[in-house]
Order: sequence, then structure tokens, then C-alpha cells
Amino acid sequence: MADREAAYRQRRYEMVGQLRRYGIVSPRVLEAFRHVERHRFFAPADRAFAYEDAAFPIGFGQTISQPYTVAYMTSLLDERCPPSGNILEIGTGSGYQAAILDSMGYCVYTVERVPGLFSRAAGVFRELGLDIAQRLGDGSLGWEEHAPYDGIIVTAAAPEPPPSLLDQLADNGVLVIPVGGSEGQRMTVFTRNGDRFEQEIFLAFSFVPLIGKEGWREE
Ligand code: SAM
Repeated sequence: MADREAAYRQRRYEMVGQLRRYGIVSPRVLEAFRHVERHRFFAPADRAFAYEDAAFPIGFGQTISQPYTVAYMTSLLDERCPPSGNILEIGTGSGYQAAILDSMGYCVYTVERVPGLFSRAAGVFRELGLDIAQRLGDGSLGWEEHAPYDGIIVTAAAPEPPPSLLDQLADNGVLVIPVGGSEGQRMTVFTRNGDRFEQEIFLAFSFVPLIGKEGWREE
């Protein structure tokens, strides 16, 4: 048991070395990846794959994103947000991205539309003693009750930035979201300045769709 945990730790540190080689430089982000036990967000039978640099299926047609993608989005958010700000994540999935943000000291809210993923993530948060607020529902509409947010991170692809999410940003708050269709998306950051939004466009990615009223329609 102790040997297995030591092996996971070794692989986690190797993963962090690889993130660094890929250009992730933030000490806060790298420390979170060292700290959060990614294998705990995988089914026991799949844990051998937890530290591969790849997305992995988590059931219900969904995936846990590749470590580099999580680190890249987290860095875009962290460079622009106050260190212990309020962050809303859309697309809880396995819960890993939310746990990374939590370990960095953010106050994290997360929304998932698939009941099976919502309750599995709740179980993992409970086991790990993480205080992350969860909601089951259509995250394309945000979570108005806790707005405004210093940052919103969407881990599924949208055709356009959902107006409800832009509305729920604090002044100077940022929305990090992959924008585009099934052929691929560009990671995009929208920064609120009063009633205006500055847009910055970054690398190309391939995400599962954000399905909801202000996302894609379910097929
Ligand atoms: N952040 C996740 C993690 O760390 O494992 C990975 C997310 S996975 C790439 C995208 C997630 O977005 C899926 O779990 C999917 O069910 C969810 N999703 C898609 N549309 C959604 C919506 N409108 N509201 C909330 N969640 C949504």
C-alpha cells in the first residue's frame, strides 16, 4: 500500500516535470499538481492511466482532461485572478480541475449536468475532505446565487461565450472557455471591464461540447 502510494507520488512528480517542459511556469500551479492526487479521480481499475499525459474516459461519454490542458487553463485563470477569489467551474466531470483550484486557495463552485458524474465527484470530494460547493444542472446558465465570480472556467466547448456567464463575472473578472465547434476550439479569455469584455485568443484544443440553453443543443 505504502509502496503503491510512493509510486503514484513518483509518477505525479514526473508529470509535473513534463508540465514544466511544456512551458507551465507558475509555481502555484505546479505545486497544486504536485499536491492533488490525480489517481483518486479515476476508477480503481483505471488508476494506472492517471499520470499519462492524455485525456481519459470517465463514463457517460465524458473525459477527464489531459494534465497539460488542466494546467494551461488554470494558468490563464490564475494569472488574472486574485489568489483566494471566488471561482465557478462549469463541467465538474471527475472533480480533478475543481480540486486543483481548491488546493490553490480559491473558493470553488462547480456545476455538472450528468447526475452520475455529479454524485461520483461528490463522493471523491467527501473522501478527500474537500470543501467544494457543487450543483447539478445546466452550467451554461452559471450559478447566479453565488455571483459575482472573479473567474469562471468552462471545461467543455461552447459555440459562443454564454451571456449568463459573462453577466456573472465581477468587474475585472475573467471567463476562460474553449470556443468553437466539433472540428476544434480556441482557448479564449474574456475579461470584464464594466459593461465591456476584452477578448484574448490562445491555443487550439478539442473538448466535449457544453450542452445547455446557452451552449450546444443535445443531439
Ligand atoms: N473538469 C473535468 C475534470 O476535471 O474531470 C473535466 C470535464 S469534461 C472535459 C466536460 C464536462 O462538462 C463533462 O463532465 C460534461 O458532462 C460537462 N458538461 C457539459 N455540458 C454541461 C453543462 N451545460 N453544465 C454542466 N456541465 C456540463
